[in-house]
Amino acid sequence: MNLNIQNIKEVKSKLNYPSKLFINGDYHKSISENSFDNISPIDGKIINKVYISQQEDIDFAVSKAREAFCRGSWSNLPPGKRKKILLKFAELLERDRLELSLLDTMDMGKTINDTYNADLPTSIDNIEWYAEIIDKLFDDISPSSKEYMGLITKEPIGVVAAIVPWNYPLWMAIWKIAPALITGNSVILKPAEQSPMSAIKIGSLLSEAGIPDGVFSVLPGDGPITGKALCLHNDIDCVAFTGSGEVGKLVLQYSGQSNMKKVQLECGGKSPNIIFSDCHDLDAAAEASAYAIFGNQGEVCSAGSRLIIQKEIEDDFVNKVAELSRNMQPADPFDPESFAGAIVNNEQLEKINKYVNIGKEEGAEVKVGGNIIMKETGGCYFEPTIFKNVKNSMKIAQEEIFGPVLTTLTFSNFDEAISMANDTEYGLAAGVWTSDINKAIKASREIRAGTVYINNYEEGVDSTIPLGGYKQSGIGRDNGYQALENYLQVKSTWIKIT
Ligand code: NAD
Repeated sequence: MNLNIQNIKEVKSKLNYPSKLFINGDYHKSISENSFDNISPIDGKIINKVYISQQEDIDFAVSKAREAFCRGSWSNLPPGKRKKILLKFAELLERDRLELSLLDTMDMGKTINDTYNADLPTSIDNIEWYAEIIDKLFDDISPSSKEYMGLITKEPIGVVAAIVPWNYPLWMAIWKIAPALITGNSVILKPAEQSPMSAIKIGSLLSEAGIPDGVFSVLPGDGPITGKALCLHNDIDCVAFTGSGEVGKLVLQYSGQSNMKKVQLECGGKSPNIIFSDCHDLDAAAEASAYAIFGNQGEVCSAGSRLIIQKEIEDDFVNKVAELSRNMQPADPFDPESFAGAIVNNEQLEKINKYVNIGKEEGAEVKVGGNIIMKETGGCYFEPTIFKNVKNSMKIAQEEIFGPVLTTLTFSNFDEAISMANDTEYGLAAGVWTSDINKAIKASREIRAGTVYINNYEEGVDSTIPLGGYKQSGIGRDNGYQALENYLQVKSTWIKIT
């Protein structure tokens, strides 16, 4: 379906707004019937009331997930059969693509162009990729002594809780649930309180695709109640988390306080994007650099938020990025032509504004932007903002703002650029722009980050390529074969040959 205002209006007028818990193949109110107002940042209006999952709901979902795991109707299903069910799920996502896109747009304010043309297709691709590889993987036999045969096999870990953020609501959920389900686990998904609707909706789609009851649940709710109770639950075997470093550290503590469950973390970043003066196409570099911070309203874990530019090209390069930012202003998220939409909520809008003020107090210069805009909509919008004269020690260069705010810094030589790039607690991603292949490879080797983009920045997302962090950006990886490891146990079996 081509995206146009007419079909957006039509599907939007018939939308159901999911609000319930999905447990054991069906939708339920929470046992306490407590709920919260789900507010759209597009206009500040309440969309619906969403139930909050509490301890008793969590116990119910976990018991059903465990029962399903032990029954084996999914965990023991041959991988080729699991594949067919997940491929069917991918087809259903395609069928309901516009509806799911609209739910995410309404919940978190990003544009319909982003949800429909980026988040949904990449989610579908991710499911298809994991479905297609699962029956092509083999276990190992060790080269041990002849008296024994050593089998090294992989088994699903059991019950997995996936706790996800709001910036790509469906997509971040799929990054966890596709590899976790395909490896035979039972999965409980907890969406962010800011963006619960698409997650709740996919409960019924997985049932329709044929996943047995109990194997997949969705528990909407907030972090301190629902998320914490999941992390502390003694019958959950693994928490796969994407979110802030602050909460990531709590998840590790909760694991230690309960059953030492396995923890996988995808946390924040303050990623450097280094522009060497010998880059052959500074226009392309400027365009990618602008997109790397203003795309998705800057609410991107791997956003290129620290632009580190070789001194002699600083003025020209910052001017180019500033010029490009004029076409990256927020506008109506439901208009397929809009580049950017709303910031997720008032709290996040205020946080961005606070950092802009801190930047000014720290002595950085606002080159463009710096303001909350479109107040008349009742929603949350911030204009693309660029700081000049930033020092790497400033808060705006060290802390994750998670909004459309770019800090620009300068360097004189290679070593200074690398040391500035590495001078952060994070290590999620980095960009390097140069025409010198030796310099590019050397930089990639010396930068301590999980992903290094050479002469591009996040141009493609590919299910085959793992994504994750060094340092305080996380533990483990999403995507690629590597993500399967999060959800598998290794079993060694010694067979004596007599
Ligand atoms: P957040 O840490 O506030 O929340 C993430 C999830 O954790 C939500 O579902 C929330 O309800 C839950 N949560 C909150 N408190 C909890 C607690 N005490 N116990 C258990 N769960 C709890 O993050 P956010 O604001 O939703 O998302 C933004 C953050 O996510 C940014 O830091 C961003 O960089 C990061 N992120 C990382 C990646 C990646 O792949 N590395 C991808 C997307 C977002």
